[in-house]
Amino acid sequence: MGVRDNLEKVKNKLPSATTLVAVSKTKPVEAIREAYEAGHRDFGENRIQEMVEKAEQLPVDIRWHMIGHVQTNKIKHMAPFVYMVHGCDRPKVLREVNKEAAKNDRKIKCLLQVHIAKEESKFGFDEQELIDFLEGGDWKEWTNIDICGLMGMATFTENSDQVRGEFAGLAQLFKQIQQKNLFATFDTLSMGMSGDYPIALEEGATHVRIGSAIFGER
Ligand SMILES: *Cc1c(COP(=O)(O)O)cnc(C)c1O
Repeated sequence: MGVRDNLEKVKNKLPSATTLVAVSKTKPVEAIREAYEAGHRDFGENRIQEMVEKAEQLPVDIRWHMIGHVQTNKIKHMAPFVYMVHGCDRPKVLREVNKEAAKNDRKIKCLLQVHIAKEESKFGFDEQELIDFLEGGDWKEWTNIDICGLMGMATFTENSDQVRGEFAGLAQLFKQIQQKNLFATFDTLSMGMSGDYPIALEEGATHVRIGSAIFGER
């Protein structure tokens, strides 16, 4: 099965309003081009340098999603073109994305990454840090970013009840923040990967990030 068929198969399982971010990390530009030619436009990468190199070789109407941990000294390289930064896991990332977006005279969509997994290794705000950040209000001065939702990664486990509980917790936090009406648009809930996206959809994901089910194992 090729990329085009896999893409079709995954898309058929998604509600039409769901955004599919095709995660192309480690895969060659030819694989991205195949999905592009099938009409796909949203692609996700987890390393800034790799995303920049690929973007230079591919059509400019691709929407590039940075889904990985962001090193702040590299933000300037993606600021001219990145569409959405899912991995904003600490205030410093948001501040620097804002700064570099301003230099490029644009506004960049940002998601607050929340640590929902049991694993220590995963990045993100914990719930208290998130509340402190929102109440602190520094973000009000960052007018070159649009904080438009939350992103999370569930624990890597066969235990689907645990995964569901983590996604449900993130969805609840998402709704709580929505009700505060802090942001102009706060409508994006990015959760779910190849192994757990059906559960994420049931729990309210608006964006899923799917790599291996489309491009094959890495
Ligand atoms: C790699 C990655 C994905 C996609 O993982 P698959 O299991 O290949 O679908 C999703 N989100 C993040 C943050 C990733 O790093």
